Amino acid sequence: MKKIQMVDLKGQYAAIKERVDASIMEVIENTAFINGPEVHAFQKELEEYLDVKHVIPCANGTDALQVAMMGLGLKPGDEVITADFTFAATVEVIALLNLTPVLVDVDPINFNIDIAAVEKAITPKTKAIVPVHLFGQTANMDAIMELAEKHNLFVIEDNAQAIGATHTGKDGKKRKAGTIGHVASTSFFPSKNLGCYGDGGAIFTNDDDLAHTIRGIVNHGMYERYHHDVVGVNSRLDSIQAAVLRAKLPKLDSYNQARQDAARKYTNAFLNQEKIITPFICDSCDCHVFHQYTLRVKDTDRDALVKHLNANGIPCGVYYPIPLHSQKAYKDERYNEADFPVTNQLVRDVISLPMHTELEDDQINFITKTVIDFVNR
Ligand SMILES: *Cc1c(COP(=O)(O)O)cnc(C)c1O
Repeated sequence: MKKIQMVDLKGQYAAIKERVDASIMEVIENTAFINGPEVHAFQKELEEYLDVKHVIPCANGTDALQVAMMGLGLKPGDEVITADFTFAATVEVIALLNLTPVLVDVDPINFNIDIAAVEKAITPKTKAIVPVHLFGQTANMDAIMELAEKHNLFVIEDNAQAIGATHTGKDGKKRKAGTIGHVASTSFFPSKNLGCYGDGGAIFTNDDDLAHTIRGIVNHGMYERYHHDVVGVNSRLDSIQAAVLRAKLPKLDSYNQARQDAARKYTNAFLNQEKIITPFICDSCDCHVFHQYTLRVKDTDRDALVKHLNANGIPCGVYYPIPLHSQKAYKDERYNEADFPVTNQLVRDVISLPMHTELEDDQINFITKTVIDFVNR
């Protein structure tokens, strides 16, 4: 059996090496390192793939979130509702812009923002909702868009973990995650489902005016050379990263398929295991692209399981071990522990197993057997 990795970027690279090497060399030869033709071509190709009018490449997924919020004209004091159970970047940019983060609990089945909790948190100051498509699974966008419309709120999708996932709406219409709200952000961090070989990110929107505003914001607030109309930032995707992404984008669907296949194998192996709750997989749609394969374990010392797996050469992760509302930086007396029963439980019982495009059957069998033996001992 090959050594098990949490993420196997080297194995994935081996299959696309020629194309990646050639396109990186081409960037070096033509020296258009910033805003070169590769960046523009990637932007167009991603717009087509997502079926969205505008993709604005930028430096990373955190910038993408920040710039999206700046583009919407959110003002200090505006309240922005997001999930308590996610990576800190989401709440970080809200706080950085002097907006008021309002963390709410999540759903125990899909780990995404809880609709009833969002509704309860809406006040006259609320301006936006930021659903995170956590672990690769789309949030309940029908309900979120309905709430947003009713209360006149913006929806910013944090799509860092779910690029390529398809959301099937109540109307039967299929849309890619990140093209449903007013604007979305994504990350091309190497371990993401579409990752480059460094940092990268992008903003998506179907709104022409917003796209124009954001294109200026990522470029020092310039809409005409050396005319700075708004305070902007410097956030660019560099051409070498765009070249890598162009080589990988045509493979994204097959990468996501490989993740879904691995997820099904895990879940089948855990069938009938009373102490293991497998992630919710919906049969009829592609709403989950398994950025992570995350289990919940019952009546089991989760941290001891992590140690046991590691001791057996199986890397694993705990995403996330601390609720955002309990983090030093984001604590706030407005929060009440009783409002976060699900997140407070998830941080104790979740565990993410190795998930990538190169997992082999003997590896999956070894991982599942090791987990099952431990929880039943
Ligand atoms: C990775 C991630 C980000 C941040 O992306 P970076 O490119 O690392 O800045 C934001 N939100 C979520 C949910 C993420 O998983």
